[in-house]
Amino acid sequence: MKWIFITNSKYFNFEAAIRDDEVGFKDNNYKIEPGDIVYIYEAGKEKWIRFKCVVTSANNERTVTDERKYGGWGKDEPIFNFTVSLDYEFSSPITFSQLVEHGISPKRISVTKSSRKPEVFEFLEECEALDRIRNEPQEAEEETSVIGGERTATVKQRINQTYFRDRLIKKYGKCAVCGNDEIRLLNASHIIPWRDCDDNAKIELNNGLLLCPAHDRCFDLGYISFDENGKIMVSSKLSKDNKALLNIKSSQKIELTEDMKPYMDYHRKNIFQK
Ligand SMILES: [Zn+2]
Repeated sequence: MKWIFITNSKYFNFEAAIRDDEVGFKDNNYKIEPGDIVYIYEAGKEKWIRFKCVVTSANNERTVTDERKYGGWGKDEPIFNFTVSLDYEFSSPITFSQLVEHGISPKRISVTKSSRKPEVFEFLEECEALDRIRNEPQEAEEETSVIGGERTATVKQRINQTYFRDRLIKKYGKCAVCGNDEIRLLNASHIIPWRDCDDNAKIELNNGLLLCPAHDRCFDLGYISFDENGKIMVSSKLSKDNKALLNIKSSQKIELTEDMKPYMDYHRKNIFQK
């Protein structure tokens, strides 16, 4: 199970305590188990999640003499029921408004459980993956500096591509054109081609379509594109017979959200072969 727990930076310096060692929380109303994940929401001045922790022990009632290790509100007895240690620190914390946008009730952040609000925790996992990607290329660069930039670029590309495809599969699960859902056959296609993208657009979900190999190739080479309503556009370079062989019908339509439109505009103007 995953949780969000709240601590108040006005009363308690969570950052200092967790860097030091474990931090204990008091809460016996919840069935928290060792190995559970706890995201710490820091209320007070900052209002964000910066730390992901793992539960190291639970169901114990211990009295701590060191109050600095107690993650409660700083006004109760320093007895805690579970302890956590640091698992991941976000380089860009997840803010209050981002959490609210993804389903957290602004009035009740304190103790949120993943079985109740799975979408929030999915979002947190995405944030972590993005955060790691942003930081990993640098690490890869350091490791492979002797070999040179080429391998660094390959490592970065592979991480990005896998992450991009995983998220598209999760979002769509099938070819946007024909509905083929044999996952192993599906390609993560960039709407603005990879070579023309900046780093953000390379992993931006709105710049992606999940397509079967044939339709991926057609889209890539500009034989097909989509209009502002998501309706398929077919190049005049594609013969009627080949269109039929490729199972492309003029009635086909994809769901084109507002956020995807700028990317598709680019494809229509620059890649599509009228
Ligand atoms: Zn297809």
